[in-house]
Formats: sequence, structure tokens, C-alpha cells
Amino acid sequence: MLARIRRNLTILYTMLFGLFLLAFVGIVYTSIFWGTYVEKTDEIRLLAGQIAREQRSEIVQYYKNGRPASKEIVSEDDYDISGQVFYYIMDLNGKVIKADLPVPVLRDAVLDQVLDWDPATDTHVATVSLPTGEYATLVFAAQKVYSGEKLLATVYVGRDVTAYSRSIKRSVMTIAGTGVLFLLLAALIGYYLSGKVMIPIVRSIARQKQFAADASHELRNPLSVLLTSVEAVERDKDSSLSPFSRQIITDAKDEFLRLKRLINDLLTLARADTGDVKLNKEVFLLESVAAQVIHSLEAVAEQRNISVRLQENGPIEVNADPERIHQLLFILIDNGLKHSSQGSEVSVYIKLVQSGRIHYAEIVVEDNGPGIPPEFQKQIFQRFFRVDEARARDTEGSGLGLSIAQWIVNAHQGEIHVNSEEGKGSRFVVLLPVK
Ligand code: ADP
Repeated sequence: MLARIRRNLTILYTMLFGLFLLAFVGIVYTSIFWGTYVEKTDEIRLLAGQIAREQRSEIVQYYKNGRPASKEIVSEDDYDISGQVFYYIMDLNGKVIKADLPVPVLRDAVLDQVLDWDPATDTHVATVSLPTGEYATLVFAAQKVYSGEKLLATVYVGRDVTAYSRSIKRSVMTIAGTGVLFLLLAALIGYYLSGKVMIPIVRSIARQKQFAADASHELRNPLSVLLTSVEAVERDKDSSLSPFSRQIITDAKDEFLRLKRLINDLLTLARADTGDVKLNKEVFLLESVAAQVIHSLEAVAEQRNISVRLQENGPIEVNADPERIHQLLFILIDNGLKHSSQGSEVSVYIKLVQSGRIHYAEIVVEDNGPGIPPEFQKQIFQRFFRVDEARARDTEGSGLGLSIAQWIVNAHQGEIHVNSEEGKGSRFVVLLPVK
């Protein structure tokens, strides 16, 4: 349970840190991307305006001269000698009036962008694929040139911003990579911190467990003395007790016995919690322990007119703690007897099964009792849980039996589960590794 809490705390810390990191990376990425985008589009828009203004007279001239072929540009018309900035001035029919062409590898892609231009926008960013198989990022701006109300031409200006775009991508990759590293670091720190947080909790739980173990242990001695005293009074032939007093003595003895069982169960669980119980494993025949348990419960079974049947398929040797396995079978068969109606049957099946490479001894204890509602089938293994308090009051028991059974099975690296149908009976299945 503590390991689960620590794992959950670590996940929580890491997720929180991850969220902060994600927000940080998001903000950094947006500011870099947006800043560059705004800067580059503004720059190119201003340039488009400048070119439109400066080339206006030439455009007017173009119409006056009867639309000659497009003009080569001279160096004073080149707005950027690096070749990254290029422009096209086009007449209303899409004929090029004047152009500063981009580098040859970009030409087709640029012309496609210009011809597909959506006139509603005055800037636009496009990633185009080049004949070389590479990609280029281009920023465009368009500026219309009028004479009075009359549209004369459109100036399209573009800039190759591939280098910027690649550098943004590289920064983002670096930030993301660093983010993942930090996340791993956060997971480690989270694990360490959750361990620190757990220390007082672990100590307090350990103290509580120790207290329960000590208290149960301390209660045992006075209880034994009380029980012996009551038994001595009960056996004393010379005492002149009234029948009423004798009944009180008998009832008190029953209650002391009940209390003794409860304290023994509590002590077993408390010691299991503190890790004080060591298994004394040895190799023994499972069916002989089962037969012993059935024998020890014979009187109870007879009293309730219930027959207990043991069915085995040949001898099965297990390497386990015989006392604990005895206790486990006692709990399961005793429960079967407690919850079965008069005249019915409790069956115990033992056989060898294999799951993967592991061989298990499968122990099944089956009864035809009232069964357990599906919603309680997991809870019955919890401490002090009883399905129906009213029903449970008729049957002695404290709700600790199955918790002990589960602890014994877990301590042997086995499994326990129940199949039950209301009104039909219950079937407890235990898988115990044989080695
Ligand atoms: P208890 O000491 O009360 O028997 P257990 O832990 O052994 O405590 O069982 C818990 C509860 O599970 C019981 O109170 C009972 O309600 C239910 N239960 C256990 N075994 C059976 C069974 N064979 N048939 C029906 N109910 C059962």
C-alpha cells in the first residue's frame, strides 16, 4: 500500500512539473514563433509598399508604352542583394511588368504561390517543396497599385525565411529535448521527495502496527488467567452455585473463548503487519493436513449435520508452512460449515495445476450456503468485514478469518479468490505454488 502511495505521489509530482514545463515550452515557442512571424511579415509588407511607391512611375510608363515585354531589373531596383528578397509586378492580366526573380531553385514554387494568391490577404507564409526534395519557407506580401480609382498592377514581394524557420525548429527541438530531460529529473526528484514525505507516515504506521501487536500480546495473559479461573469454578464440584450463576459462568466462558480467538487473530495480523511472522517451510503432504483439519472440525460438522468431503487426485507435496496451511484450510472449511444449512455438504478438492512454468496445488472449498453478493466478494477479504451483520451475529466470527487466509496465501506467493452465486453457494479457490 505504501509503495502504491509513493508511486502515486511520484506520478502526481511529475505530472504537475510536466504541466508547468509544457506551459513554459508553449509560451517560449509561441513567443519565438510569433515574434519572428510578426517581424518578418511586417518587414515584407513595408517593403511591398515601398516597391509599389518607387515603381509606380515605371508601371504608368508600362501602360503608356503599350505593354512591352517585362523589363530586366537594374541594380538600383534590387531591394536586397542577398537574393533572399524577390518581387513580381504584374498587370491585370497576370503578365509580369517587372521582376526581381528569386534564385532558380525557388522560381517555380514562388510563381505557383503568386498565381494562386488569395486577394483577400496581404501577407502569407508558405512552406514549399523544391525540386531538390528540400523544403523552403517563404513569406509573401502583396500591394496593389492604383491610378485614382483604377487598379493598375499588383506588387508581390517574397522573402526566403528558410534559415529562420530552421533555426526556430532547432530551438524548439532543443527546448523539447531539454524538457524531456527535466521531466525525467522531475520524476527522480518526485520519487525522492515522496520518499521523504512518506517517512513520518511509515513511522506512524509502524508505531500503530507495533501498538496493535503489543496490545494483543498483553491482553492474552490476563485473558488466559480469566479463562482458567472460570473453568476452575465450572469444574469445582463442591461449589454451591445456583443454576443462574452456573449459566453466567458458562456464558462468561463462551465469551472469554470468543475473545481469545479474536485476540489470537488480531495478534496474527498485527505480527504479520510488523513482519514478525516467519514462515517455517517444510515439505509435507497437503491432503494429510486437509484430513487433519476436517478431523478437527468433525464435531462442529456433526453438530450441524453437515458432511465434509475431501476429494484428491493423488498425493501432492508442497513446500510451505504446515501450521499456516492448516490455519488457512481451517478458516475456509470452518466458514463453509458456518454458512451452510443443516444437512448440506462442504466439499474440499485438491489437485495439481500448471500455469506457465509454475506448478500449483489448487485447493477448492465449496459449500451450498447462501453465497456472497457480487459487490461484497472483494470486501470479504478486508479486516472486520462481514457481509450481513445481522446474519453474522448468528454465526460466531469477527470478520478476520479471510484476512488471515489472504495473508497466509500471499506470504506463500499464492492466490485466493472466490466464486459465489447468491442462493447457490460459495467456492473459495486457493492456488499454492508447490515449491
Ligand atoms: P468471519 O470470522 O466473520 O467468518 P471471515 O473473514 O472469515 O470472517 O469472513 C468474512 C465474511 O465473509 C463473513 O462474515 C461472511 O459474511 C462472508 N463469508 C465467508 N465465507 C463465506 C461462505 N462460505 N459463505 C457465505 N459467506 C461467507
